[in-house]
Amino acid sequence: MKVLVVNAGSSSIKYQLIDMETEKVIAKGTCERIGIPGSKLTAKGNGCQKVYEEDMPTHKVAIELVLEALRDEGIGVISHMDEIDAVGHRVVASGEYFSKSTLVTPEVLTTLEEKTFELAPLHNPPAVTCIKACMEVMPGKPEVVVFDTSFHATMPEKAYMYGIPYEDYKAYGVRRYGFHGTSHKYVSAEAAAFLGKAPEELKIVTCHLGNGSSITAVDGGKCVDTSMGFTPLAGVMMGTRSGDIDVSAIQFIAEKKGMSFDEAVTYLNKKCGVAGISGVSSDFRDLIAGANEGNKRCQLALDMFCYQCRKYIGSYAAAMGGLDCIVFTAGIGENTPYVRAGICEGLQFLGVHLCKSKNEARSGDAREISVKGSRVKVLVIPTNEELVIARETAALV
Ligand code: AMP
Repeated sequence: MKVLVVNAGSSSIKYQLIDMETEKVIAKGTCERIGIPGSKLTAKGNGCQKVYEEDMPTHKVAIELVLEALRDEGIGVISHMDEIDAVGHRVVASGEYFSKSTLVTPEVLTTLEEKTFELAPLHNPPAVTCIKACMEVMPGKPEVVVFDTSFHATMPEKAYMYGIPYEDYKAYGVRRYGFHGTSHKYVSAEAAAFLGKAPEELKIVTCHLGNGSSITAVDGGKCVDTSMGFTPLAGVMMGTRSGDIDVSAIQFIAEKKGMSFDEAVTYLNKKCGVAGISGVSSDFRDLIAGANEGNKRCQLALDMFCYQCRKYIGSYAAAMGGLDCIVFTAGIGENTPYVRAGICEGLQFLGVHLCKSKNEARSGDAREISVKGSRVKVLVIPTNEELVIARETAALV
């Protein structure tokens, strides 16, 4: 069985074609600048790469070009569209309307459009545009939606509720939903397999640290709490997002700067985080380079990030009543020994003992970076959200 995984952004589409017998990626690529002049598709297959510099005014045109690339004489990996058995789509927010991956029907599309667009206005509309484009271009092919929020659906009420009037939660669905669920699900399951334990036996904190970062408490294989909230703005400070902040402080800044409420939210999402603290960059490579050259604000941004992550790990150990394993994943989690060391520093009292040389060794594989005998195992596990989407899609069709 071959599953096409589609991850749609407002002006981009990332895709992978995965052979489910081997779980290997047989083709992948990215369409950029959809609807904007200068659009292009970079496609890989058969060990080669081809760049299509073609006008893509809509997601439908982009999907058509992807299908053409999959059948290309040089980089193509299929000869007919019928060789694709199903399409799995990443959808960021499900609200309380879907708690698991779902086969797309007209009713599902209507619910997505009418109920979830306002929950994720930047992400869910392009995903639905893409689903519709695939339905047009590949009529009759099963389409599945896989939600970033599903893994967090097991959170208990006490973890997902905010301290607002209960009627407002009921009326508007305002609560913690969490994000990066497919990643947290994948790496927590891989961690259990790596340790040779059943997920039910383990209390794990998974740290998905990338441009967007979230930390999740996984007890017995189930999410019991997560740092992102109603939107991805909450939790630890990120590349350009503030993370948790006193709302009244924002009202104060907005008054001083003459910002509207919408402008203040954009400011919190785009101007804050490590980029705002350092004044240099949202990229951790630049921050580390800056700190090494003596830039105090780069150093402060790194210190704040590590400190906030450490606090979440400590609080989740308390929430679960124990901790067996910490997992690092995503761009920063997989590639930045400095940050992993900074986060684990001071957690020795919990039984976390990082091995300096293992932490600093470069590898793209799942690995342990704690010392032999560390009571809490610290692992680096490369995430694979596309594989989770493909697996859930295959399971449903
Ligand atoms: P992501 O959102 O998961 O793609 O992560 C993006 C962030 O990961 C970038 O902003 C960088 O700060 C960080 N990152 C990615 N690759 C590396 C690397 N090789 N070394 C250090 N940091 C990296």
